Amino acid sequence: MKFETRVLHTGAELDPRTGAASFPIYQASTFHQADWNQQQEFDYSRSGNPTRKALEHVIAQLEGANYGLAFASGMAAITSVLLTLSAGSHVVACEDIYGGTFRALTRVFSRFGIETTFVDAANPEKLAAAIRPNTKAMMLETPSNPTLKIIDLQKAADIAKANGVLTIVDNTFMSPGLQRPHELGIDVVVHSGTKFLGGHSDVVAGLVTVRDESLAKEIYQIQNGFGAVLGPQDCWLLMRGIKTLAVRMKQSEETALRIARYLERHPKIKRVYYPGLESHPGREIHLRQADGPGAVLSFELADAEQVRRFVKRLQLPLFAVSLGAVESILSYPATMSHAAMPREERIRRGISDGLLRLSVGLESAEDLIGDIEQALMGL
Ligand SMILES: *Cc1c(COP(=O)(O)O)cnc(C)c1O
Repeated sequence: MKFETRVLHTGAELDPRTGAASFPIYQASTFHQADWNQQQEFDYSRSGNPTRKALEHVIAQLEGANYGLAFASGMAAITSVLLTLSAGSHVVACEDIYGGTFRALTRVFSRFGIETTFVDAANPEKLAAAIRPNTKAMMLETPSNPTLKIIDLQKAADIAKANGVLTIVDNTFMSPGLQRPHELGIDVVVHSGTKFLGGHSDVVAGLVTVRDESLAKEIYQIQNGFGAVLGPQDCWLLMRGIKTLAVRMKQSEETALRIARYLERHPKIKRVYYPGLESHPGREIHLRQADGPGAVLSFELADAEQVRRFVKRLQLPLFAVSLGAVESILSYPATMSHAAMPREERIRRGISDGLLRLSVGLESAEDLIGDIEQALMGL
């Protein structure tokens, strides 16, 4: 079955008791035990909840995994996976990793004896060279944020396997609609469900998928033990969002490509970062491992002053943190996602004072390009 069909027919779309066309929200913390000494599937909602179980089934199906786990946020999902590591472990992470993951690794996990090396993972030799005898995990993101650098996932998985290292991929930017890392040999896939999966800027959520049963048990122990679970209402919202994931991704991607091509030709734009453009480094690798370039692109104006004027004139996109929603969202990495990074380091990574990131929503392409055009005219 094609992905468009699979988002609607996952096996968890109907209520098994009534046939209701939307899985019920089991808003309950505890469950009456029918027998005084018999175990039953659900006893307490931190340990398990039917609505959460339905969502966990859905994401496992879509990622081509055997097990899914839902968390209170993307960061809860990522840190819960990292909590399966022990003191003395070493992590290799890509240098363009999500800011929250960077902070968790450098400020929290470092205090518990887990050390991280950040490398330019677009270069497989550098990735391999960073591995030490105590390296236990590789944390990757492709395309990266906000310059959409591409990592060869198959190569990374091969390097990791040869060294007994667990691979974790943050698949938030692509969603399973465009990229399924398990198929390339990746062990753990993590998501901020807040973005494309939810898709409507109305829920904060995180998801994890794995194929291996013992790994699933280890992560479940953290989910149940540390308790950063997703509530039933939010599980339902995520399942509702996922039903339209395929069609949203397709439409947003089509518009993103048109906008990227428009910006690429515009004299006031210094550079466009988008894996759909022929000029984008790593494009071939990306199109080999993903079904499309996605709905996020970045572009560069001359400086911060131009950014200020552009953002002031622009009418349609929200100017906000986050991405992956029905409405387009424009972000300014220098003061938002990468504000904590020293300016020199930020600029070294291509995140200049003129760089903007656009997550393309479902508005008409003509309207978005028209809006961008009038805003650029005022520079
Ligand atoms: C937003 C985001 C996260 C964090 O997710 P939250 O739901 O905000 O906790 C992690 N990784 C990526 C790539 C993201 O965009």
